[in-house]
Amino acid sequence: FLMDDKIAAADSLALGQDMYQLVSELYPICRSITGNGVRTTLERLRRYLPLNMQEVLTGTQVFDWTVPKEWNIRDAYVKNSRGEKIIDFHRSNLHVLNYSVPVSRKLSLEELKPHLFSLPDHEEWTPYRTSYYKENWGFCLSHKQLETLEPGDYEVMIDATLEDGSLTYGECFVRGESSEEVLISCHSCHPSLCNDNLSGIALATFLAKRLLDRPRRYSYRFLFIPGSIGSITWLARNETGVNRVAHGLVVACVGDGGKFTYKKSRRGDAEIDQVVAHILRHRGVPHEIREFTPYGYDERQYCSPGFNLPVGSLTRTPHGEFPQYHTSADNLDFVRPEYLAESFEMYWKVICVLEENRRYLNQNPKCEPQLGRRGIYRSMGGQVNQPLNEFAMLWVLNMSDGAHTLLDIAERSGLPFQTVLDATVPLVDKGLLKSLPAPLPGAFGGTP
Ligand code: ZN
Repeated sequence: FLMDDKIAAADSLALGQDMYQLVSELYPICRSITGNGVRTTLERLRRYLPLNMQEVLTGTQVFDWTVPKEWNIRDAYVKNSRGEKIIDFHRSNLHVLNYSVPVSRKLSLEELKPHLFSLPDHEEWTPYRTSYYKENWGFCLSHKQLETLEPGDYEVMIDATLEDGSLTYGECFVRGESSEEVLISCHSCHPSLCNDNLSGIALATFLAKRLLDRPRRYSYRFLFIPGSIGSITWLARNETGVNRVAHGLVVACVGDGGKFTYKKSRRGDAEIDQVVAHILRHRGVPHEIREFTPYGYDERQYCSPGFNLPVGSLTRTPHGEFPQYHTSADNLDFVRPEYLAESFEMYWKVICVLEENRRYLNQNPKCEPQLGRRGIYRSMGGQVNQPLNEFAMLWVLNMSDGAHTLLDIAERSGLPFQTVLDATVPLVDKGLLKSLPAPLPGAFGGTP
């Protein structure tokens, strides 16, 4: 088999720690949908991966959108009338409204207040706010601090630039035997937020790194892109090759301890939808499977009707459903190495099933072959508690008519995929089963 589907406990622990280390390293960088924060982030990932960095010029038309101006920031603060810095970008990049235009002026508390953002429900936390498509400036702070601000003169300074430049994204292509691709996409546009954004970047990075070390059937394409505008830009530039995407997942929010949540592709019955549902069910972990909605991360672009790619999204607690979401509390305490490791294992398992999910053909389809004579079945009949693999062999033989995949057999029989896969080994070995070549892209309900 191409893939080892189990990750040893020690390896898993080490992987979790490595991913957490990467999250910690990327945490302080001020990212946005464009600018040097994204470039620095992708440069760091290049220590792990052969990552191509793509630059798309401001003003480039991408379907109904336009690549925006590039934003870069060096400093930002608010000083009170005593000249004390009460809000400082260098203490947390969340303090600045992301994409703020430059400003340097004095103003009263009343004039300043419309530019201040806080969270009355979580008064210790700083919110994360953006203003990508409407020029504005602002600061984010805890509600507790906001309430202590006294009337008087304030000095605000945002040393930022918003000018023509480019949008940066990263692409890592891992070639396999087949030109059919598995797309793994994550967003890379959030500043100091760990679960939303950094956990996905870390998981995708280590997934690519592991795949590079192994023989593989599919080719894999990893995208590290700014949310929405990044996937729109990538789709606009790669429209002709997009039908090679046979399966895809959008990775995000994989570092918290919440239950696994799978959001199906728009198709709802794509192979990726079956695979993830099967694994979650058989892992015996708390999980939830949801239908597609045109809201969320980049799956909404991949699953727009003009593309309708088989791309779902596997997360822990989905965006917006944990209180720490888009606040300073989505920090290095909120994500844990063991959760990252568990999420990694789930993704790895998905890849292993995709890699091994094939169609076979029973070479002795007229009545059951005599397995006992071939030494692969107990010769004595009438025993009630037959080991699962004997059932699995019978299922595989019965259903391997060329139309059903191993996953179809696993689903129909209620057996785990791995048990069905293991049952093919002696049958192939004895010449009772033959693997069929993979269907051509699009031959089984692929992209039109
Ligand atoms: Zn977000």
